[in-house]
Amino acid sequence: MVLSSKKTTVRTEGEVPGRKKIRVRIAPSPTGYPHIGTIYQALFDYAYARGRSGTFVIRIEDTDQARFVMDAEDEIYNAIDWFGLTEDESPRKGGPSGPYRQSERLAIYQKYARELIEKGSAYYCFCSKERLEEVRQRLASEKKQVMYDKHCRNLTDEQIAANVASNMPRTVRLRVPENRQISFTDWLRGEISFNSNLVDDQVLLKSDGFPTYHLAVVVDDHLMEISHVVRGEEWLSSTPKHILLYQAFGWEIPSLIHTPILRNPDKSKLSKRQGHTNVSWYREAGYLPEAILNYLALMGWSHPEGKEIFPLSEFIEQFDFKDVNPIGPIFDLAKLNWMNQHYIQETRDEELLERLLVHFPDLHDKDQSFLLRLMPLVKTRMDTLSDFTALTRHFFVEPDYSVEDGGDKKILAETQKSLTAVKKWQADAIFLGLKSVMQEHKVRMPFFYKLFTGAERGLPLPQSLEIIGRDRTLARLDRARAA
Ligand code: GLU
Repeated sequence: MVLSSKKTTVRTEGEVPGRKKIRVRIAPSPTGYPHIGTIYQALFDYAYARGRSGTFVIRIEDTDQARFVMDAEDEIYNAIDWFGLTEDESPRKGGPSGPYRQSERLAIYQKYARELIEKGSAYYCFCSKERLEEVRQRLASEKKQVMYDKHCRNLTDEQIAANVASNMPRTVRLRVPENRQISFTDWLRGEISFNSNLVDDQVLLKSDGFPTYHLAVVVDDHLMEISHVVRGEEWLSSTPKHILLYQAFGWEIPSLIHTPILRNPDKSKLSKRQGHTNVSWYREAGYLPEAILNYLALMGWSHPEGKEIFPLSEFIEQFDFKDVNPIGPIFDLAKLNWMNQHYIQETRDEELLERLLVHFPDLHDKDQSFLLRLMPLVKTRMDTLSDFTALTRHFFVEPDYSVEDGGDKKILAETQKSLTAVKKWQADAIFLGLKSVMQEHKVRMPFFYKLFTGAERGLPLPQSLEIIGRDRTLARLDRARAA
């Protein structure tokens, strides 16, 4: 559909005539759990607004009643709060441009739909669902682009009046001009042109009085004085319809920024079918929100000094949309794990414990000072908070020697002798005790891991045994020998 795309010089906000204030928005639809892509956009919006004394708005686009999911709006706020990307205006916060929930703005859209009809930029369509379905099927079977066949586009005033008088259900459709190029500038991609003959006479207002996305988004972005419309590139093909609407109303077109779609390492689109598109997945898996934000910041953007790790405050200082590369960035969980591990390692022990207590409420029942002693050790190995359970099992659960084979009895006896001789029960001395057995009996560390923890690897063993304590360690040996 795109005729041409050429990169033009990027404008900066100062050059948009008459628009001084930066106002950006995310406009999620409450159709399920928030998508990580929504947070990606929220992050860019938030950073842009905060760095320029602007305003960050959340508008809830709930006009698609069929796809509405209860609680989805609350989930959006939960996600926004978890990441700390708090908005300035929204349904929950209010603000001067409210209401911010589209279902509460129906009268506004209806008024603007009427205005379009009066201007001749839109028309009533009385086609039945059945007729539209027939048209759709016919075009699909002819392998043609599925579009409305403009059946009602040229009804006479009398026909329209008669249909209205007999209460025929009707929608309002955009009258897309023929044989024109519709052009606009995307900040990241330059000028983009579409052939209007390939743009559908889109329904703007449905027969139930609800607007479609296209009418609502343009009316709201205008009335809410959004200076920069930031959304995913999957919306690019909708933009020509929006341009026609802006032109029909005589409204200034905001700056348009279509952010790249995040991709998996195999270049496929992150989609709902893979679990890790939902914010809730990251929460449950035990990622730290600041690590995710840092990683998302690097999707299509790079720090001017090439830094990989930087806080949100620094991103706010440095970020500008003009530096975003529109070529599909790769969202690699392995890289995110690395980054998350880094953030965990940098977290103070007390704070890490607090986060673990939120993640695993059952930990409240355990001795808190004992847990705190584990922090320096676990933070070197946890990719995510969830790793804590498996990594620390041996501190809380005794290996079952009726199942686990403790190993060669002679070596066990030697180990007991060697560890009993350890004077100061500290990791270094414990290590030397184990080392002497290793040298003499040609065994390796995994042998001791298995013996004391039931697993072949894990947290550094001498340190673990120091925390487990002399008595419990030796008791384990006793039981292994007796098994
Ligand atoms: N409601 C649309 C969505 O859920 C918003 C698209 C836009 O930002 O214009 O993605």
